[in-house]
Amino acid sequence: MARRKQIYEGKAKILYEGPEPGTVIQYFKDDATAFNNQKHAVLEGKGVLNNRISEFVMVALERICIPTHFIKRLNMREQLIYHVEIIPLEVVVRNVAAGSICKRLGLKEGDPLPRPVIEFYYKKDELGDPLVTEDQITAFNWANPQEIDDMVAYTLRINDFLSGMFAGVGIQLIDFKVEFGRQYDGDLMRIILADEISPDSCRLWDIATGEILDKDRFRKDLGGLTDAYTEVARRLGILRNQEETSDTKGPVLVSSNDVNKD
Ligand code: UDP
Repeated sequence: MARRKQIYEGKAKILYEGPEPGTVIQYFKDDATAFNNQKHAVLEGKGVLNNRISEFVMVALERICIPTHFIKRLNMREQLIYHVEIIPLEVVVRNVAAGSICKRLGLKEGDPLPRPVIEFYYKKDELGDPLVTEDQITAFNWANPQEIDDMVAYTLRINDFLSGMFAGVGIQLIDFKVEFGRQYDGDLMRIILADEISPDSCRLWDIATGEILDKDRFRKDLGGLTDAYTEVARRLGILRNQEETSDTKGPVLVSSNDVNKD
């Protein structure tokens, strides 16, 4: 079989040309980076867990009519997705103060926010992904006002849905980041959810203990990152049970059919 063509390599994922026009294969690596690439590690098993958690979340969002790029999972590390033109913005929504907003606005980590707060960051590594205003977004043509409205509406729905989904398994959704893309079909264009939603892009705290179950374990040198992601997957019903994941063989994953039957 001919070697497939790599389209792009990012910090945690690689994109390859897909089998049909308009499709792409998204490969989840074990690499973790933080602080604009200054910190890097390879955390065995992370990619496998994020592939499964992101699949689970995207499928759940499709069920509530959020259009996503997800088509199907291909194997432990890869999923087939629709090709999109990525909008160069990271859309962050926050329910509780944590991370950069605490430094910027002098808030206390863990303080609930008066309402969900949305922020846009311009995706530009050289600049360290700066916070940008809606006026800057439209002035520089990164997105138009209608696209901004669509992204805000989708992000708020995703936030409400995921807050409830995680609360149901004893996890508080503190904040998360999403990315959107433009999908073209002839003259038609629609905005769809792209990238991934996983503990790499969310802050997830155990409701009972406050334990951190997301990438902050890496950012803050707490250790136990893959154990935390495994716990998130287990609570969502993606993994059968803790014992099966604690040996050196890596996570034991159940099929989507098994998950759906639960
Ligand atoms: N986030 C992300 N990718 C980024 C920056 C942030 O996935 O490049 C996520 C992060 O995991 C958190 C949320 O967006 O869930 C808000 O991050 P914040 O702005 O507080 O930045 P951080 O403190 O993570 O640098």
